[in-house]
Amino acid sequence: MSRAATAPLVHVSIDRIVNEGHGVKTFVLEPAPGLAPKPLTYRAGQFLTLKLPVAGDRPVMRSYSISTCPVSDARLAVTVKHAPGGPGSDWLYEKAEPGMTLEALPPAGQCTLDASDRELLLFAAGVGIAPLFSLCKYALAVSERKVHLHYSGRRRETTPFIAALEDLQHTHRGRMRLQLRMTAAEGRLDADAVRSLVTTMDSPTAYVCGPPAYQAMVTDALLASGCSPSSVRTESSSAAAPRVS
Ligand SMILES: Cc1cc2nc3c(=O)[nH]c(=O)nc-3n(C[C@H](O)[C@H](O)[C@H](O)COP(=O)(O)OP(=O)(O)OC[C@H]3O[C@@H](n4cnc5c(N)ncnc54)[C@H](O)[C@@H]3O)c2cc1C
Repeated sequence: MSRAATAPLVHVSIDRIVNEGHGVKTFVLEPAPGLAPKPLTYRAGQFLTLKLPVAGDRPVMRSYSISTCPVSDARLAVTVKHAPGGPGSDWLYEKAEPGMTLEALPPAGQCTLDASDRELLLFAAGVGIAPLFSLCKYALAVSERKVHLHYSGRRRETTPFIAALEDLQHTHRGRMRLQLRMTAAEGRLDADAVRSLVTTMDSPTAYVCGPPAYQAMVTDALLASGCSPSSVRTESSSAAAPRVS
């Protein structure tokens, strides 16, 4: 059992809910007042596991990647895609309100910034952008590393954080490159495109977050292009995180 699964629960309260549109919302959290609040310390790229009171005495535990940066954002937030019919995200969409207090396992996860000074090559698809948005902001804030983010979404208007990412690219001209792929018009990313991208870079550290088939395709293509297994990191949203139902 992981350290996080045995750690005491923390109490968080919902400060704000930001509708990112098209079935994606960001929940801005803060330590709950009056319950011995401790700062919500976390590392960029980690996730938070929320205990959601979906049916009174039968809560469910659901993990959500933190989309904020510990040094440049004032509060911690998670970004949730609605899976209609799923108890956890249904509750967050239909019942959660600002001011509510929730229990959570402390932030956990290993999809954090490596200690090297290599260029960063980030691959995100869909809500997999959440941990990589966090890592991207953090790497730009605390290091001189170059960041290349390849981000797939269906359409521009349904893909969260594009404007914020374009702002980051503008602020960090020469260090950050944002490459968008809108799959409704351009089709899905394939292994050849991954290979041609990685060959333009000098031994990058790669991070891959998205649906399982996307992660498998990108990871295989990176390894086939000569990246070492230790330089390719992923966060699996279907990993064995603590779940009560
Ligand atoms: C480390 C980690 C990080 C994650 N980060 C994020 C994140 O940043 N953002 C995010 O949105 N999610 C993230 N997830 C996924 C998240 O934890 C939940 O799994 C997700 O919100 C769905 O939970 P749910 O309870 O709504 O639906 P679930 O109960 O998981 O069901 C998902 C879908 O499957 C359907 N379904 C379930 N059971 C059946 C069945 N028997 N037959 C047919 N259909 C069925 C449901 O109707 C629903 O549409 C992450 C997961 C992990 C492990």
